[in-house]
Amino acid sequence: MNEEKLKQILEKSTKHHRHLCPRQVLGARMGLMAGKVLALELPQAHDCKRLFTIAETDGCGADGIAYAVNCWIGRRTLRVEDYGKLAATFIDTQTGTAARIVPRLHIRQLALEYAPEAGNKWQAMLLGYQRIPDLDLLAVQPVTLHTPIEQIISRPGRKAICELCGEEIMNEREIMRGGRILCRPCSGDSYYDEKRDIRHLLKTPSLCYNGV
Ligand SMILES: [Zn+2]
Ligand SMILES: [Zn+2]
Repeated sequence: MNEEKLKQILEKSTKHHRHLCPRQVLGARMGLMAGKVLALELPQAHDCKRLFTIAETDGCGADGIAYAVNCWIGRRTLRVEDYGKLAATFIDTQTGTAARIVPRLHIRQLALEYAPEAGNKWQAMLLGYQRIPDLDLLAVQPVTLHTPIEQIISRPGRKAICELCGEEIMNEREIMRGGRILCRPCSGDSYYDEKRDIRHLLKTPSLCYNGV
């Protein structure tokens, strides 16, 4: 484990996150481990998109991961597949190698041994997670992706128009259904239902544009 590198990453993520917490430390350790497993220099350079990360939860852990590997939603190098787990898959887009890294099951207990001076369990996790050796802290599983990484990333800049709602669809996310180009919501795969009359829901009803 590279203690100096971990310290630098945690300094950056703490500034952004406004506190240091155990999950952030775990995320940072996971990211650094990915660098070892995939033999990549991490955090990757700002102009580099070779590493692509799929985090399995948002929150503190994801911040630790993002700073350790330098993958971001805005750079299209980080996705959240929300399983509610502090785990992540790190993909070398040049070789296609993918490694899922997940904290081992009994590290909360182990942290107490590595931080005997800690005043409470939270403090023990915060310190212990910085000290436990890589392979005692983290498990590494080589994985294959159900969707090829090229398709997950897709071609940026590509645009289509949904034939039902007329909204623009970026990055090859359109769906072909019955010979028509549709967006995901119009194809029936949506996280929301549109309300018929939304005026009472919004503070500035005049800004509604759905025809009501
Ligand atoms: Zn936190
Ligand atoms: Zn649509």
